[in-house]
Amino acid sequence: MMTGSQYVESLRALKTEVHFMGERLASVVDHPAIRPHVNAAAVTYDLATDPAHGDLACATSHLTGRPINRWTHVPRTRDDLVKKAKMMRVAGRITGTCFQRCVGMDALITLHSVTHDVDRKHGTTYHERFKQFLVETQDRDLMSGGAMTDPKGDRSKRPHEQHDPDLFVRVAERREDGIVVRGAKMHQTGAVNSHQFIVLPGQALGPEDRDYAVAFAVPADAPGVIQVFGRQVNDSRKWEGTIDQGNATYGVVGGEALVIFDDVFVPWERVFMLGEVEFAGTLVERFTSYHRQNYGGCKSGNLDVLIGATAAIADVQGTAKAAHVRDKLAEMAHLVETMYSGALACSHECSSLACGTAIVDPLLANSAKFNTARYYPEVTRLAQDIAGGFLATMPSERELANPRVAGFVRKYYQTRADVPAEDRLRLGRLIENMTGATPIVECMHGAGSPQAQKVVVQRTIDWALRRTLAQRIASTSKP
Ligand code: SF4
Ligand code: FE
Repeated sequence: MMTGSQYVESLRALKTEVHFMGERLASVVDHPAIRPHVNAAAVTYDLATDPAHGDLACATSHLTGRPINRWTHVPRTRDDLVKKAKMMRVAGRITGTCFQRCVGMDALITLHSVTHDVDRKHGTTYHERFKQFLVETQDRDLMSGGAMTDPKGDRSKRPHEQHDPDLFVRVAERREDGIVVRGAKMHQTGAVNSHQFIVLPGQALGPEDRDYAVAFAVPADAPGVIQVFGRQVNDSRKWEGTIDQGNATYGVVGGEALVIFDDVFVPWERVFMLGEVEFAGTLVERFTSYHRQNYGGCKSGNLDVLIGATAAIADVQGTAKAAHVRDKLAEMAHLVETMYSGALACSHECSSLACGTAIVDPLLANSAKFNTARYYPEVTRLAQDIAGGFLATMPSERELANPRVAGFVRKYYQTRADVPAEDRLRLGRLIENMTGATPIVECMHGAGSPQAQKVVVQRTIDWALRRTLAQRIASTSKP
């Protein structure tokens, strides 16, 4: 297993093509826009060997018996899934933001079972191929970018009906030694600091969409892989200073990129699905169940940091004893524990797939993510309510070094006599960072928009059973 600093150094060896602000970046590791996200991902490496957390982030490979980082592990038991959820909360508490490595983890977990099921139906050999890839990923402790969300073009049209066939990733050419793929994946968390990409279809597909039913892996610096790093609200603060960032070490959410596959060659040993359209829906359902499980963990860990910052700002401002502040803090905690309980519940209520992979309960996992999309903004609203309007009007950290106004800023931003103004500003910036537009949108749409979770809930709930329960007690006739 790699340490966090070995992971950071390993990224330097890649020739990843990343563009930002109109230029190609010379280094993804050293650029201030990206470095905080690299630091957050590095936590997933350090956690595996941190004795304080036991085997929470360390597992034993079911294929080799060797110790591996849990972010490369395929869960085999209930205990594995519970540890996955707990690991999310711990990493979320350390970073206060997204640590990015879970999308690739869930892509690995999903492909393990889907390749097995495709082989059983079609007599293909994807599963053996995939297992070799998995062992290499585990032994080299690689970070995989899980790439799922296509640009999708006109939402009313299927992939093959789009005005441009590249709006979903597709096979452009089949060759003797492999395939050539074309298209793009959007909003890719942790993409620029991943070693490799695992590309999966992003939705259920019909028979005419055969060329879109493709799953594969490529190195992040494979020829033709081009990345465009996205902007975030207030991101120029990353190259202006530290206090104003709020979380200068780990950033805000994952650092997302547009990943373009401009005729990228994929050798056969890295192709894990090709044309088996009927499995695309299963693949998406399994992937999203695992990833929605995570959200109940990582976001509750993040919000633990926000609760702490909000309680601290109330202390500093002298409002901590006010009944309404204590009530709001308790409400924040209750909402966070509700999110987390879903992640644990779906793990405990797991089942086993044909290949032996343990899978979370989909209804509970989707409910956990739905709660996260709904409660994260509510918790941020309460944090802003308690912290006060200064969140939106704080001066730049540079004023603290401006000889003409520094004294005034320190004097008038100070609240309690024994706490310097700078502490209040630092807490304010952290709360601002965690309650802004970027994390709220991420909680809403990351791991799929809330409507996608509702669709699963609508499909999965046993409505007839519930009607019968009521009819029996109310003694009504059946409709
Ligand atoms: Fe992991 Fe959460 Fe980030 Fe998704 S949003 S990659 S689950 S930390
Ligand atoms: Fe996310």
